Amino acid sequence: MRIVALAGGIGGARFLRGLKDVVAPGDEITVIGNTGDDIHLFGLKVCPDLDTVMYTLGGGIHEEQGWGRADETFAVKEELAAYGVGPSWFGLGDRDFATHIVRTQMLGAGYPLSAVTEALCHRWQPGVRLLPMSDDRVETHVRITDGTGTRAVHFQEYWVKLHAAVDAEAIIPVGADTAKPAPGVLEAIAAADVILFPPSNPVVSIGSILAVPGIRAAVAGAAAPVVGLSPIIGGAPVRGMADKVLAAVGVEASASAVALHYGAELLDGWLVDEADADAVGAVEAAGIRCRAVPLLMSDPAATAAMARTALELAERVRA
Ligand code: GDP
Ligand code: CA
Repeated sequence: MRIVALAGGIGGARFLRGLKDVVAPGDEITVIGNTGDDIHLFGLKVCPDLDTVMYTLGGGIHEEQGWGRADETFAVKEELAAYGVGPSWFGLGDRDFATHIVRTQMLGAGYPLSAVTEALCHRWQPGVRLLPMSDDRVETHVRITDGTGTRAVHFQEYWVKLHAAVDAEAIIPVGADTAKPAPGVLEAIAAADVILFPPSNPVVSIGSILAVPGIRAAVAGAAAPVVGLSPIIGGAPVRGMADKVLAAVGVEASASAVALHYGAELLDGWLVDEADADAVGAVEAAGIRCRAVPLLMSDPAATAAMARTALELAERVRA
C-alpha cells in the first residue's frame, strides 16, 4: 500500500510515528512536508517542519518539547547574543545548527531542497520518504496591526516571538503562487492508495502545502480516498494557537468547521474526537464520512490507534 500524508511539524510528526507503527511491512509512506514555515536566520536556511518530522521519526527529537534536538545545548546562541546578534527569540541549539549548516551548504552548492532533504534523511533514516512541498522558496507571512501600525511579519515572528497574541488579519504564503511542487510530489499523490491529512494546522501547515499550484487539484482529483484527523478538540487546538490563524481565514475553531473548510472536494473522510461527537452529523451532511474516536496523541498506542482508524475509514469510503 502506498500512503501519502501532508504534514506540518509537531502534530504531523507525532501522527506519522503512530502511522509507522500500524502499516504493514512493505507499505510505503511518502510525506509531503510544509516548507511555508521556513526562515533564513544567521545566513542559514531553517526548515522547522521538515526537521521536526525528520528528528521525530529518526529518533532525534526533544520529546517533551516536540521540536528541536534531544540533549541540546545552546552555546552558539549564547555566543551570538554576546555579540548582540539576534534574533534571540528563535531557539536554535548547537546540534540543530549543524543540520542548518549542512542544508545551507548543499543549497549553496546548487542542490535543490528535495535533494538536500534526502541527504539529511540519509543520516536520520525516518522510515518514510520525506519530500518538501516545493523546492521553491515559500514563506508564510501574517498581516497584523499593533502599536506600530499594520504590517506583515514572518510566520515565525508571529508564532514564536509574538505568541500569536495579536490577531492575524491575513495569512499570505509568499512565493506560493509561482512555486512548483517538488519532484515526486504530484506523482506520489497520483499513485497513492490512501491520502492522509494528519492533525496538522489546517491553515499554515496543510493550507500552505495545498497553496502550491497543482497540489490541491492533485489531491482533489486523486483516485485514493482522502482522510483527515481534526487538530481541534472541543473547540480549541490541542496545542498551539491554530485558532488565531483559522480566524484569519474566517473559519471557526471547531472540528466540523475545519472539515467544511477543506470540503468534500478534498476530503472523503474525517475523524473528530469523541468530545465532538455532535459534529458528526454536520460533517456527513457536507458529504464527508465522519467518525468520532479518541484523537489525543497521549502515547504511542493511542496515536497508533488513531492511524489505524484513519486507514479503516479510508477503506470504508473506498468501498
Ligand atoms: P506545527 O507545525 O508544529 O504547528 O505542527 P502541525 O501543523 O503538524 O500540527 C499542529 C496542530 O496539531 C495543532 O493545531 C494542534 O492542535 C494539533 N495537535 C497537537 N497534538 C494533538 C493531539 O494529540 N491530537 C490532535 N487531534 N491534534 C493535536
Ligand atoms: Ca509548522
